[in-house]
Amino acid sequence: MLKPENRIFPNLYGAMGADLASAKKRGDWYGTKELLAKGKEAIIAEVKDSGLRGRGGAGFSTGMKWSFMPKEPVKDKIGNPKPSYLVVNADESEPGTCKDRDILRHEPHKLIEGCLIGGFAIGAKAVYIYIRGEFVNEAIAVQKAIDEAYDAGLIGKNACGSGIEMDVYLHRGAGAYICGEETALLESLEGKKGQPRLKPPFPAGAGLYGCPTTVNNVESIAVVPTILRRSPKWFFDIGRPNNTGTKVFCISGHVNTPCNVEEELGIQLKELIEKYAGGVRGGWDNLLAVIPGGSSVPCLPKSICDTVLMDFDSLRAVQSGLGTAAVIVMDKSTDIIAAIARLSRFYMHESCGQCTPCREGTGWMWRVMTRLVKGNATVQEIDDLLDVTKQIEGHTICALGDAAAWPIQGLIRHFRPEIEARIKNYTKRVA
Ligand code: SF4
Repeated sequence: MLKPENRIFPNLYGAMGADLASAKKRGDWYGTKELLAKGKEAIIAEVKDSGLRGRGGAGFSTGMKWSFMPKEPVKDKIGNPKPSYLVVNADESEPGTCKDRDILRHEPHKLIEGCLIGGFAIGAKAVYIYIRGEFVNEAIAVQKAIDEAYDAGLIGKNACGSGIEMDVYLHRGAGAYICGEETALLESLEGKKGQPRLKPPFPAGAGLYGCPTTVNNVESIAVVPTILRRSPKWFFDIGRPNNTGTKVFCISGHVNTPCNVEEELGIQLKELIEKYAGGVRGGWDNLLAVIPGGSSVPCLPKSICDTVLMDFDSLRAVQSGLGTAAVIVMDKSTDIIAAIARLSRFYMHESCGQCTPCREGTGWMWRVMTRLVKGNATVQEIDDLLDVTKQIEGHTICALGDAAAWPIQGLIRHFRPEIEARIKNYTKRVA
């Protein structure tokens, strides 16, 4: 269990102020000039040493990602050096996920300080925070924090008296789920239709406006100042090997007290739900399944939920994923087939339509799922559906195809008898 003194976000619930004076009382912006004085290489090395893995879903090493940025300026066609950019992905749109939201509205200075340090470490000229369009109050809170930081000389020219210049801009999206995909986000930021780009080139080579760019999640950036202040070892010693540090978990669904909570990576799922979310409605034995990492990861039945740990590697070992650490709890009153069908509809609706397996496949899967909800199908169609999910998975431009396939794969893996029973009942009824 995470000791209170190890919490990175003491104001996660907004009990204290989000303003600069309150943030400084919590330790933000303390010794930032000295942190910057460590130099780019040292900062990247410390972030690598901390073991920090991206908090947006993929779980890739943040320090490693930063090290992919070109060390020497990349030249444009006429020989002028191109600028580099840090882009913060605040487009939090994954169903069940609302962790960045609390950071944005209650701890915005941690994010702005992280933007300065992260931007400096990768050699960025400026930082863009791309915020989900629906986050109106959060955008107001972040803009207020940016303005306060400029007024106090913490960002902008000679940031924190360091001699470094770093501008931070807030950009509001228009509310499309696909703009949470990093290259679609960059397209949208450039004023184009939010559609994912083919990779390579990756953003570190050609990102925003064709310039070297790193895209990081809000939580990944917001934890960096604390890691540097308290030491990489401090962060490394929290959690489990290869799954280090604290994480903001979002617990929703059939629990008594849905909440966000910062805990150690590797905490038991059962402990997380019982300790912070008041337990499953009707008790633990009333649990049917949990989606442990936002709507795109495969669900887990109670038998696995009894013992599984909440970290990247433990959840991968049970063929699911930590994703955004959004825990969606479903008790035995849930029609799990209908629940997954609803997710299929979501992904069909959010597909940008660029690639055929996703554009056609998400609609096809949703149509089959709606028949499976009634049982109006054959048992063979379960295998056909599974086969189609495999044809979509890994065969699309971006991960939305995988996100649409995985929930159905999880359903068939763990609840196939329920699907078959429904088909049999339907067949009996109409015979
Ligand atoms: Fe668009 Fe889907 Fe292809 Fe992603 S996988 S690029 S959302 S069609």
